[in-house]
Amino acid sequence: MSAKKMFYISSLLMLPLLLTFYYVAHISPQGHALEQWLPKWDRLAIIVTIIILERIYTYRYAVSQRFVLGRDIIANIVNLYITAAVTSFLILPLLLYVPQHFFGRKFLFASPDQLGPFWLQIVAILVVVSFFRYWMHRAQHTVPFLWELHSYHHRVTDLTATNAEVSNPIDFALRNVVVFLMLGVVGFDPLAIALAVPAATLSAVFSHCGADIKGGVLNYLIVTPEVHRWHHAVDVPEGYGYSCNYGVEFCFWDILFGTYYLPKEAGQPVQPARIGHPSGLPDEPNYLKLLLMPVGLYRPLASLVPKTAR
Ligand SMILES: [Zn+2]
Ligand SMILES: [Zn+2]
Repeated sequence: MSAKKMFYISSLLMLPLLLTFYYVAHISPQGHALEQWLPKWDRLAIIVTIIILERIYTYRYAVSQRFVLGRDIIANIVNLYITAAVTSFLILPLLLYVPQHFFGRKFLFASPDQLGPFWLQIVAILVVVSFFRYWMHRAQHTVPFLWELHSYHHRVTDLTATNAEVSNPIDFALRNVVVFLMLGVVGFDPLAIALAVPAATLSAVFSHCGADIKGGVLNYLIVTPEVHRWHHAVDVPEGYGYSCNYGVEFCFWDILFGTYYLPKEAGQPVQPARIGHPSGLPDEPNYLKLLLMPVGLYRPLASLVPKTAR
């Protein structure tokens, strides 16, 4: 077998191998021990893994992201460590109120047995999470205020290790936090949640991998980088309206609702030549603008700071 062919095969195997590795590591007792020592250790390790992959499997349309690195680092810290905590603080009391007020108990269902067999609960969680996130993400492209918030995620000019989490915290919470809080009050078996949630979150993190790793058949099941790049294409494919490939972790809702797009040439997926804002707006390196502009607070707050200090 030629070296070129072996390199291609390795690019096909990389994604399933890494997803399996991080999934097993995440649910293993060692993973839990690591989590205590370094919260979000798996996300940090994935970022390092993807940076290495991007050096090995160089992508033909790669665009340097060095000028937004500071913004990327802040966005990662905020959305990995702060957004979920703040969202829980604000929304959880409201969610907990519903079962307490209407049923006089902690969860919507009195016991996990009422939710069916264990395996079915895992399937149900994956279906509910992906369905919610698909439609939330679609709304984030079609509802003007939600698009205002989400558009900052679409200003990036390439998908890379560091920009999967780049987005306004409200935009991030609506797509990536709220549904998991809702799951928490249903009353699912805690083990079913512990097994299903990482399966729904891992592929989303890898979808922003900037390396030229191939999805193969996985392109029709999960949101691979090859699939997600089309969601970020400057030129939206004809007939797709606002965008295509809205799935956050799985592709089946896109396939079912007719928003899936992955063209092929000679049996190989084609990739968009340009990634960026569909109206051509440049990327925003100033994190404060990304944070405050969509909620109308950037100009009022900036005017309070003396010009020399800005
Ligand atoms: Zn989007
Ligand atoms: Zn994205």
